[in-house]
Formats: sequence, structure tokens, C-alpha cells
Amino acid sequence: MIVAILGAGPAGMSCANACLSFGLEPVVIERGDHLGGAQRSNFHPNLWLLGSPSESGQDLTRRLVAHYTELATTTLLNTRLVGLEQANEGFLLHLDTPQGARNMAVHALVIASGMRPYATPELTALAKTSPRVIIGPLNDTIRDDIHQARVLVLGGGDNALDHALFLAERGNRVRVCTRGVFSGREALLAACRKRPEILLIPYCRPERLVAGNLEVAALWADGESDTWDWLLVMYGYKPNTEIVEHFPPQLRPERHPGGHLVVDTWQRTSVAGIYAAGDVTDTVQPAIPTAIAQGLAAAKAIERDWKAGRLRP
Ligand SMILES: Cc1cc2nc3c(=O)[nH]c(=O)nc-3n(C[C@H](O)[C@H](O)[C@H](O)COP(=O)(O)OP(=O)(O)OC[C@H]3O[C@@H](n4cnc5c(N)ncnc54)[C@H](O)[C@@H]3O)c2cc1C
Repeated sequence: MIVAILGAGPAGMSCANACLSFGLEPVVIERGDHLGGAQRSNFHPNLWLLGSPSESGQDLTRRLVAHYTELATTTLLNTRLVGLEQANEGFLLHLDTPQGARNMAVHALVIASGMRPYATPELTALAKTSPRVIIGPLNDTIRDDIHQARVLVLGGGDNALDHALFLAERGNRVRVCTRGVFSGREALLAACRKRPEILLIPYCRPERLVAGNLEVAALWADGESDTWDWLLVMYGYKPNTEIVEHFPPQLRPERHPGGHLVVDTWQRTSVAGIYAAGDVTDTVQPAIPTAIAQGLAAAKAIERDWKAGRLRP
């Protein structure tokens, strides 16, 4: 009984681990060149996994990956799912692998492809033209290269505030600018307000941004303009679910308006035989423990559905 799992983050790795314990044969398909998912580059202390209070996301990921690599799983790195069709006993996956095109017959599919930082098309284009524009958190440049600088942060949630604090502690002057009110956790807001290096400005949006190799110029609504050494865009996240648009209509799982996959309490999507786990689902609190639990639940659901003859689309 072969289970294809898309994504080698905490949800995908946990699902593979659980599949083995339920007697299923997992094949993990990861489009990147590494295991571990989003927390692989998080240098901040882990917040939500009980039992490892001082571990960073990176340390935690190393531990999860070390366990995962000991398992008898098949992992295909740098591999993309480019098509899906219904087959007698489940699905036929069309894969684009470093060795070329390959088809794989599987009995069930788990989508565990996580989320990615979101930015407007204009800011995405700006980041392509300037090394001084960074989209999303958890970036090695933020950790290693930004010292004694002027930093403009766009966004008002936890990531914006968290990074403002991190940068202030490294001698940077930071302006955090959000278009409405700040929505980040109260404790982070209070900590930011205590730092003289941080200026929090609500209801603020630059009229125009121009980025070069060494700085970013901002023009504001009141006609003022200023320049910054770095621009960090912390607008939040978008689920990696575009892949389902390439599935035939009858095999395309339902999505919420924001793009997350709709699942029931068993991690089943609207298509029999296709499950989803982790940040791709509309989970209340995206986190490593949530992803690990959902990966486990998906494996259990597959085992049950398989035994009950419910897997066929
Ligand atoms: C700044 C920040 C701080 C956080 N801090 C914490 C914390 O302290 N504690 C905590 O518990 N959680 C934290 N989280 C949340 C945590 O990172 C996520 O909830 C968790 O990583 C979700 O795991 P996942 O497996 O669902 O997705 P991910 O970790 O995103 O993994 C998804 C994997 O799927 C791959 N992929 C994507 N698309 C495809 C595709 N089409 N085909 C194949 N593979 C694909 C990706 O390359 C990636 O490897 C934080 C998140 C952020 C952004």
C-alpha cells in the first residue's frame, strides 16, 4: 500500500513515520533539495513545542530530520508532481525528477506542502531587482548581515514585530509600518514599544518604493521621503496549493478562499484518497506540533480508509 507524501516538512516527515508504523509504504516527494521544511532556517527559539524551550527552529528541525533519515522511507528530492490521474488502485503520479520524467502508481496521496511568504506582485518584483529587499522571515541575510543599519519593515503581525526586536538587539534602527493596526501578539508589541530603536507606525503605507543595490528609497503619503539600508516585507503567508490546479477537475480537492485545502477531522480532502496535513490546511495555529499531529492523523486515516475500502476516488 503506497502512500505518496508531497513535502518533507514536519507534517510530511511525521506522516511518513506514522505510515511505517501502520504498515503503509511512504514515498516522500520534496520539490526542494533539502528536508525539514520552513523551520530549517529559523534561528529564533522554538515557541510552541512543549519540551524543548530553548531549541531554535533550526535545532529542532535537525532533530526531526535526523530521526526521519533513519526511517526506511523513500525520499525523492528536487522532484515535482506535474500531473495526476486516476488509476485502478488509486492514482498515477507524473513526476519531474532530476533523472527525467517518471510515473509512479500510488494508493493514496498526502499533500503536506506548507506555506510560503506572501508579498504583493510589486514588492515581489522589487525584491528581484535589489538585494536590499527581503520578502518573508527566517533569512540568513537578516541573521548575519544586517547590523547598525536603518531598516524599514512592512507588516504588523508577529513576524514583523519579532524581526524588529531581533534587529534592534543588533544595533539597527527599525521603523515598522503597517497599513492598519498592529495585529501581532501583545507581548511582542509591548517589547517593541520599550525599545528606543523601534518606531511602530500604524495606518502607514509607502506611496512608492525604489530599490537599488545599496539602499531603498520610500516616498510617503505626506510627501516626505527617506532612505533605508534594508526593506523587509513581512506580510504573512500563502499556502502552497497551486499544484492542485494541475489536477483533473474530478481529482481537484476543494480549497478555502485563501487557498488552504479543506479537510475533515481525519485530514481527508474532498477527494477520496487525497489527504492534507500541516500548514496547507486551514489550521487554527500553524506550528510544528500541529503539523506533526496532522501528519500522524492522515496516516491513521489512510490505514482505516484502506481497510474499509474507501480509498478509490
Ligand atoms: C517565522 C516563523 C516562526 C515560526 N516559529 C515556530 C515556532 O517557534 N514553533 C513552531 O512550532 N512553529 C513555528 N512556526 C510554524 C512552523 O514553521 C510551521 O507550522 C511548520 O513548519 C509547518 O510544517 P509543514 O510540514 O506543514 O510545512 P513546511 O514546514 O512549510 O514544509 C513544507 C515542505 O513542502 C515542500 N513543498 C512545497 N511545495 C511542494 C510541492 N508542490 N511538491 C513537493 N514539495 C513541496 C517545501 O519545500 C517544504 O519542504 C513558525 C513559522 C514561521 C514562518
